[in-house]
Amino acid sequence: MRALPLDLIDVDSLHTDEERQIRAVVRKVVDSLVRPHVAEWYERGQVPARDLALEFGKLGLLGMHLTGYGCAGASAVAYGMACLELEAGDSGVRSLVSVQGSLAMYAIWRFGSAEQKSQWLPRMAAGEALGCFGLTEPDHGSDPASMTTRARRSGDDWLLSGTKMWITNAPVADVAVVWARAEEAVRGFVVPMDSPGVTAREIQHKMSLRASSTGELVLDDVRLPADAVLPEVEGLKGPLSCLTEARQGISWGALGAARECLHTALDYAVSREQFGRPIGAFQLTQAKLADMAVELQKGYLLALHLGRLADAGKVRPEQVSVAKLNNVREALAIARQCRTILGANGISGEYPVLRHANNLESVLTYEGTSEIHQLVIGQKLTGLSAFG
Ligand SMILES: Cc1cc2nc3c(=O)[nH]c(=O)nc-3n(C[C@H](O)[C@H](O)[C@H](O)COP(=O)(O)OP(=O)(O)OC[C@H]3O[C@@H](n4cnc5c(N)ncnc54)[C@H](O)[C@@H]3O)c2cc1C
Repeated sequence: MRALPLDLIDVDSLHTDEERQIRAVVRKVVDSLVRPHVAEWYERGQVPARDLALEFGKLGLLGMHLTGYGCAGASAVAYGMACLELEAGDSGVRSLVSVQGSLAMYAIWRFGSAEQKSQWLPRMAAGEALGCFGLTEPDHGSDPASMTTRARRSGDDWLLSGTKMWITNAPVADVAVVWARAEEAVRGFVVPMDSPGVTAREIQHKMSLRASSTGELVLDDVRLPADAVLPEVEGLKGPLSCLTEARQGISWGALGAARECLHTALDYAVSREQFGRPIGAFQLTQAKLADMAVELQKGYLLALHLGRLADAGKVRPEQVSVAKLNNVREALAIARQCRTILGANGISGEYPVLRHANNLESVLTYEGTSEIHQLVIGQKLTGLSAFG
């Protein structure tokens, strides 16, 4: 693909050399490990998650923004740029990294005991152990406060029972962070996937995020020792703070999918001829391309601004909602618009555009649907909750 001018307003000048170097490394690994294979993974609905995790672990991409325990300790901005490059390959591949680093590892890193951290984090950072994060249930998605997964005391032990649904990485994971209602409050548990009573079934027939393993996680009276609970948090603020963490990476990542689509559409527009001219010479096509390039750059500025706020320790959840809502919604609009520019070729797996558009349907829904982020922002604006 030719290098095409997408950075109209020189956003790149806002980055440090170190940030650009990290981006170059991730772009290279996506070029060699993901791009040549991802269309086939998508078509088969299978991804070599363990192999990818080991490679990503070598590069420090797992738990990249965390410190200690073998984690790279990178900035939020550098982590975001890595998410963008990974998602330019595929949203499913970026999801593997997000769930590992921002959800499973982050929960243990932030709320775990010293023993839980030293048992799991170094192996997870290296990609030797894969994690998943079980919050959503079959009947409780946007409203996790109504969860029915239960944690009961049995002597000193805990007994966990319930079903989690749509859990990324569950079928390939070694460990799950599971959120369950205990008598006192919602608590988080570190659950080895080989514990008796744990089963994970791959969800079939997905039409989106096919290069990602997604499962149903069943917990049938799973007996866990007293120290399986995450000691440092009680209540829904535990899982919600993990989601705030992951949503930041997603706000960057979605722009990668959009950038890939726009590159493809631009390249196509200048080479495909109809009526004796490149279709990129028609004003209607140029209007589409211009609007998409503008939205992409606005989204980038938003992600970068929030990344800088995060690095200064100042980012607030409703700000993250602004970025997740805008950037995923615009990325999906860009992917769909690019699809039109490719005409019939736009629906072919020979081009990445419809794969990205289909993936972004999942990204629009997970980590808080667009509607939920609108409600978060609406509540901030009005002081009134419209959730229930
Ligand atoms: C591919 C994929 C991977 C995922 N990975 C994970 C994972 O790793 N871990 C995990 O825990 N979960 C995961 N999820 C689940 C995801 O977080 C949920 O799907 C999401 O929170 C929405 O829940 P739901 O699907 O049950 O939809 P529902 O909550 O049933 O919502 C359905 C519709 O109703 C709307 N709605 C709901 N409440 C309101 C309201 N108060 N006001 C207005 N509209 C409302 C929603 O916005 C949506 O449009 C994943 C999902 C997908 C698709």
